[in-house]
Amino acid sequence: MTSTPQVLVIGGGPGGAAAGYWLARAGVDVTVVEKKRYPREKTCGDGLTPRAIRQLLDMGFEFDIPNMHRINGLRAYAGDLKIEMPWPQHTVYPSWGGVIRRADLDMEVAQLAARQGAIIRDGTEAVAIVEDGGLTGVELRTKDGSGEVEIERVHPAIVVIADGSLSRFGRALGTYRRRDYPYGMAVRGYFESPNSTDDMLESQLNITDREGRAMPGYGWIFPLGDGTINVGAGLVSSFKGWKDINTSRILEAYVDRLPAYWEVNADSQLTRPVGGKLPMAFSVGPKVGPNWILVGDASGAVNPFNGEGIDYAYETARLASRFITEALGSGDLTRLRSYDDAIEDEYGDYHRVARVFVNAIGNPAVMKALTTVGIRSKPLMEWTLKVMANLLEPEEYGMAERVYHTIERLVKVAPEPAVR
Ligand SMILES: Cc1cc2nc3c(=O)[nH]c(=O)nc-3n(C[C@H](O)[C@H](O)[C@H](O)COP(=O)(O)OP(=O)(O)OC[C@H]3O[C@@H](n4cnc5c(N)ncnc54)[C@H](O)[C@@H]3O)c2cc1C
Repeated sequence: MTSTPQVLVIGGGPGGAAAGYWLARAGVDVTVVEKKRYPREKTCGDGLTPRAIRQLLDMGFEFDIPNMHRINGLRAYAGDLKIEMPWPQHTVYPSWGGVIRRADLDMEVAQLAARQGAIIRDGTEAVAIVEDGGLTGVELRTKDGSGEVEIERVHPAIVVIADGSLSRFGRALGTYRRRDYPYGMAVRGYFESPNSTDDMLESQLNITDREGRAMPGYGWIFPLGDGTINVGAGLVSSFKGWKDINTSRILEAYVDRLPAYWEVNADSQLTRPVGGKLPMAFSVGPKVGPNWILVGDASGAVNPFNGEGIDYAYETARLASRFITEALGSGDLTRLRSYDDAIEDEYGDYHRVARVFVNAIGNPAVMKALTTVGIRSKPLMEWTLKVMANLLEPEEYGMAERVYHTIERLVKVAPEPAVR
């Protein structure tokens, strides 16, 4: 039986490990339980924008995160039209990104949290809530190497829910996802490619199904620098019939049309496509209970513009850790409630525009206009990419809305643009 920590974190992905790190750094007695054993796989595109790098640097990583391939910008295609954009110079974010397998990245951050003083228990699953008119404890199940199972109960003062997109623990505490908010699904596979040292994240903005219908989402190639690339496709839920879509088929159609320089063919596929869900725009709530708090995918933190969630898992974990530390320090757990307001202050405006944008691109005419007429305007596309990556300077925040209205106007001017 372990002793009860002040804070128990459920889940050791980006959200959970970062919460462990920031809490330990603030002197809090924290244990992170992760049901799998590191290094553990997580279905992902493995892409990190400067927002994520900023968080990693703040946690004390240097420029040479092991096994990370450095990325200098974005390349976006819409059909045969192409735009390349280095990461913008920004006062807060570095001008580089990265691609790294999640098995490597998540283990690195968990180890960092352990060096900072967090107790990291992989192979331990939180299996049940202990309740007595509210959450009073958590039942943990640990399986050792010989298959022996140990069940124990811990009674932390605060529980951080970082158990990912399906968030079984959050649901057991009464959280729910707003169905009128965007939701995404994505699928990825690994391929061999001689071009894997490319230093750009590549995306295809006009993906289609096999019948050639435009789909609201994008395809990506994220090079890992080690002879392999991560190829995937993601869609948002704002179009009719999205539940019937087979994302693996969308990926197949995308892979068939990859630019020749990737030299991808049937023989270069290393893994079968695997998919996952993306709860977006902070669609999940309530985010705070009397003694618990949601971070990362468990709170629906994924960016609807681009499907990024690693950086937002780090950011929300850091924010939550601040309020947890304050609550423990003052003995007043109601301080946790300020987390909700802080999320609204930080992301509210951006996500309001994102929600409208995602609804709009569910209309095939909008998607066509954006990816044909839109991409011919370099400044508009550069702004669009900057907005999508959420790399605006504070004085540019109104730009997200302006980009959206420009796209709206484009659609009105050219409802059925010819596809080249
Ligand atoms: C196909 C795909 C591609 C994506 N590509 C990108 C990308 O390129 N860049 C990007 O930024 N984001 C991407 N995302 C989103 C990103 O993967 C998530 O937003 C991110 O992993 C969220 O981190 P998290 O810590 O909240 O959750 P997770 O990474 O899901 O971690 C949750 C952890 O909790 C553990 N767990 C669950 N239940 C329990 C329990 N009861 N007890 C103990 N442990 C538990 C799980 O094993 C898991 O390790 C992609 C997602 C998908 C599906």
